[in-house]
Amino acid sequence: MKRTVTVLGSTGSIGRSTLDVILRHPDRYAVHGLSAHSRMEALAEQAAASQARVVHVPDEAAADCFKRAWVYSQPCPQIWVGSERLCELARDPASDSVMAAIVGAAGLPSALAAAQAGKRVLLANKEALVVAGRLFMDAVHESGAELLPIDSEHNAIFQCLPQRSDKARPPRSAQVGVEKLILTASGGPFRTVALDALAQVTPEQACKHPNWSMGKKISVDSATMLNKGLEVIEAHWLFSMPASRIKVVIHPQSVVHSMVEYTDGSVLAQLGQPDMRTPIAYGLAYPERVEAGVSPLDLIAHGRLDFEAPDLARFPCLGLAFKALELGQGACVSLNAANEVAVAAFLSRRCAYLDIPRIIDAVLTAFSQQKAGLALSDLDALLALDAWARACAEQWVAACPS
Ligand code: NAD
Ligand code: MG
Repeated sequence: MKRTVTVLGSTGSIGRSTLDVILRHPDRYAVHGLSAHSRMEALAEQAAASQARVVHVPDEAAADCFKRAWVYSQPCPQIWVGSERLCELARDPASDSVMAAIVGAAGLPSALAAAQAGKRVLLANKEALVVAGRLFMDAVHESGAELLPIDSEHNAIFQCLPQRSDKARPPRSAQVGVEKLILTASGGPFRTVALDALAQVTPEQACKHPNWSMGKKISVDSATMLNKGLEVIEAHWLFSMPASRIKVVIHPQSVVHSMVEYTDGSVLAQLGQPDMRTPIAYGLAYPERVEAGVSPLDLIAHGRLDFEAPDLARFPCLGLAFKALELGQGACVSLNAANEVAVAAFLSRRCAYLDIPRIIDAVLTAFSQQKAGLALSDLDALLALDAWARACAEQWVAACPS
């Protein structure tokens, strides 16, 4: 039977890779819905190529752009507008699988809606777990949703954990026999740059990742290694692992995507090209395997694989993420919101690269002083704290000299 897939954030890096895999297998997958926040021509082209039945756009102005961009002979898809309808699309019974590939906490409500509706959720949007880990995982377990991690490290760990039944769901508690999760990190573009040169680095340099081609926000997160910090928090929730049993190892070649260390001394790793179509294809086809358009891994051409410890003086954001995880959910919400604001400010040259950890640190301190102990049992409470932390971070950005 064909799977029917909705791709949220279809015009982004993950969204485009998802459609690339889907369109290789017209016998297996059909597209129900697509969503995008901007670039309506690109969305129209995707909708025409995939024969999507519904597109979601942010507002009426975007809907008008989409209609103007619809130059195709086939009938125009339904156009849904507004944030409520994005969640409606995520829940729509017409699809069985939802790729959650919106960037940032903006992707949380729709990813959560898909989980609550019992879909097969392909989760690329790591911020959803950082902001709402418990709520999200509870929704998955209560609704009977399947959850396939798409972030390459978590997808690797999922593949290396003991085999489950054919229903894809991360374990509810730390698994017996598993000692540690080892997340690999490339170290990004500034791994070997002189420390005193970091004050001057530009958005263009930060977005030039040595191995992966990704959206701008996650590229900057990879440069600061806050991305790895978000992934530690993501792994904590996905695999029920305490922070003390999640290790980060720098591996500049990005061939080993992550590892699981077992009590008996075995370490299982998943290897492959740095191409997101591999984890995406895994999530779409689970428990089967399908061709993903990824070239085979040539270990002899690589010759060597290197590993080193992360330097927290170079990557203070990684330390801040571990601190937030220790402080709890509210601190993780604050960390993520402060980072989103700081990265957007850096990309638009309103603050310097080294202001990113400073802003996050300042917001975490303000959180501990003013908001610690807040009850965060539902989405509204989490989003209210997110808004507070963003406003706090904006004040710090406004005070930046650049
Ligand atoms: P991107 O910036 O390339 O694409 C983001 C998509 O989300 C676009 O379709 C955009 O229109 C949409 N979008 C942006 N803001 C929105 C909003 N406010 N409301 C609704 N839609 C919005 O991002 P990406 O690199 O594809 O990353 C997407 C997610 O996947 C992120 O959470 C990222 O951390 C995660 N991820 C990405 C990669 C990668 O290789 N790119 C790898 C692992 C995880
Ligand atoms: Mg990753």
